[in-house]
This record gives sequence, structure tokens and C-alpha cells, in this order.
Amino acid sequence: MNSPCNRTSILDGKHLAKQIRTQLKNRIKQGVAEGLPTPGLATVLVGEDPASSVYIRNKIRSCKEVGVESFHEPLEESAGQEMLLETIKRLNQDPKVHGILVQLPLPRAGYSEVEVLESILPQKDVDGFHPLNQGALFQGEPRFVPCTPKGILRLIEETQVDIAGKKAVILGRSNIVGKPVAQLLLGRNATVVMCHSRTQRLEEEVRSADIVVAAVGVPELVRGSWISEGAIVIDVGINRQDDGTLVGDVAYEGAASKASWITPVPGGVGPMTIAMLLENTVEAAWGVS
Ligand code: NAD
Repeated sequence: MNSPCNRTSILDGKHLAKQIRTQLKNRIKQGVAEGLPTPGLATVLVGEDPASSVYIRNKIRSCKEVGVESFHEPLEESAGQEMLLETIKRLNQDPKVHGILVQLPLPRAGYSEVEVLESILPQKDVDGFHPLNQGALFQGEPRFVPCTPKGILRLIEETQVDIAGKKAVILGRSNIVGKPVAQLLLGRNATVVMCHSRTQRLEEEVRSADIVVAAVGVPELVRGSWISEGAIVIDVGINRQDDGTLVGDVAYEGAASKASWITPVPGGVGPMTIAMLLENTVEAAWGVS
């Protein structure tokens, strides 16, 4: 982790994710040599949404890099819910497939996301979106933790700051980011405040935070002046601007002048998500180490 100025350090997710992939690659090589099964990840993509296609391509490429076998199941948008459920049923039964990932969002018409997520065997649910896995996290006994929140916790841990007793303010209450991050930080004994689109005095809440996690999808909503001196700032947002560049949910320059640690966009939380997916797949194949 490197330092852009005297006080602020960048939480370099790209670098950390690469380290994790290298460790996984070595672990998989050794495990397979000792007779463990090659971890297998099935990816299911319905339709041809360009962003989803890029995400899936990156996931398949990362599998190859570390030695996870990947099984890709592309379905036409017109395939329909029954065909999708049949595909998942087949993957549930396939012993070479240890993890199943259905790329979200599904096309709007004709699909039930809830039914699809519930049809994945919980022990193959490497995205951690099955209600049983969400419930386990809620009970403080996490099994498969959703990849982006897991990566966020890993980045915070990288600072070596003791999370216990710190005030964490989370912006965004989605099932895939905000809520699981809150559970993970509660599990580390942080005092957690959840903010959302109806929160009043958002600025005041952020000002009181030792740890800020912004996952709203609003470009640079969090201003630098809102950040308290020495806070840890995790920017989950990925917002494409008209000129094609990406910005986060936090105004980076201003926030970096106040924070002790901050994630850049891109290169912060994003790369950690796939690394955690690979880690979850190895855990699905071999159990938690
Ligand atoms: P979402 O749209 O499901 O949820 C957004 C949340 O933000 C909601 O809870 C909403 O109440 C809250 N919100 C919206 N406007 C707000 C405002 N003005 N003030 C306070 N809260 C507000 O989003 P999501 O799926 O959780 O994603 C959030 C962002 O994180 C997006 O930019 C997304 O692209 C990004 N993301 C990144 C990764 C990654 O791997 N880096 C993964 C998932 C999501």
C-alpha cells in the first residue's frame, strides 16, 4: 500500500487482488497435486448486456489465471425462466462444478431473480446471495459472504486499524453491498450507521465517521469537506462520466486530503470482487481453510 502524500495512504485493491490471486494459484496447484479436485466455477449469462458480458469475460479470464476450471453457460434472452432453472439444476448436480454464479441483473421481462437465486444450492452459492447464506451472515455465522463486501472488509483490514468500537457510516442499503457490509462490520464490533436515499443530514453522519463506505452510485456525492481527519474511506461506486472516465461516489482529491486511507476508483474495491469470487470457489470445492 503506497502513500500519495505524507498523511494519506492509498488502499490499492489492484495490488492486493493480484497478491490474493497469486496465493490462490499456488494453493490450487498444491491442492490438486495432493489429489484435491480442481475447483470449478460455472457462470451463467442470460442475454447480451455489454457490461455483464465484460464482467463474465473478466471472471472467466481470472479463473484461467489461477487454475479454477470455468464452465460458461450463455443463454439467449428469450430462453425464459424455466430453461434458466433447468440449467441451474444441471449445474447443481454436476460434481465438477463447485460454484455457480448467475450474472445479475437478469433481463427484466420473464425472469424472477429471487426464484433463480433460491434455486442455486447454498453450498455452491459463491456469490452469497442465497437467503440461507444471507441469513447465516445476519446471524453472525457467515458461510459464503458476497464478494464485494468481503473485498471491502479485506481492504479495511489491510489498514491494520482496529475496527472494534469505530463508527462506520455506510451509504447505500442494497442487498449486494450496503447490508452485507453492515453485517460484516457489526461482526467486527464497529458501531454501524446505515444511510440511504431518505437519510436526513447525510453530511453530518459522514462527518462523524471513522470509516466511510460509499455504495450509492451517485458520482462524487460525498464531498471532501465531509470527511473527518484520519477517516478510512472506501469508495464502492463506479460511475461512468460523459467523457468515458470513471469516478466513484466520493470526490477523491478533497477526501484524500483528509482521510488516513482511501480507495481509488478504478483500482480499489473493483478488483477485489473477482479475487473474492475465486476465493469463495476454492472454499466451495475444498471447504474453508
Ligand atoms: P443500488 O442502486 O442497489 O443501491 C444504491 C443505494 O444507494 C440505495 O440503498 C439508495 O437508497 C442509496 N442512495 C441513492 N442515492 C442516495 C443519496 N443521494 N444519498 C444517500 N443514499 C443514496 O446500488 P448497489 O448495487 O449497491 O451499487 C452501488 C454502487 O456501487 C454503484 O455505483 C455500483 O456500480 C457500485 N458497485 C461496485 C461494485 C464493485 O465491485 N466495485 C460492486 C457492486 C456495486
